[in-house]
Amino acid sequence: MTTGIASKRARRFLSQNGKCFHCNKPMWERRIENMKSASVRLGINLGTHGWNKKMRDLRCTAEHLVPLAQGGSSRFENIVAAHLSCNSERGIRPVEDYKSELQSRSQPTGGG
Ligand SMILES: [Zn+2]
Repeated sequence: MTTGIASKRARRFLSQNGKCFHCNKPMWERRIENMKSASVRLGINLGTHGWNKKMRDLRCTAEHLVPLAQGGSSRFENIVAAHLSCNSERGIRPVEDYKSELQSRSQPTGGG
């Protein structure tokens, strides 16, 4: 692992105003706020177990614009902040492909 990736992630989180690079919806960042206060901010009920799968999906992760598997680096220039769910859903597809997929999905004619 490259050292310092978490601090790059947190810097991106702040410069993106806490919004996901892909879907532009709010995230939460472990280094900045605890899960409980983040859940209140995001309107998620943690319930009796103090845990909700949504909190995992909405967690801020370090997304590599050019995936490591395709020769991307862990330099700050190649890192953005994105939801865990968006990050894993995108996989190693080009960023543009995934963004246009998200856009077509949000249109009412997009189907199921
Ligand atoms: Zn997202």
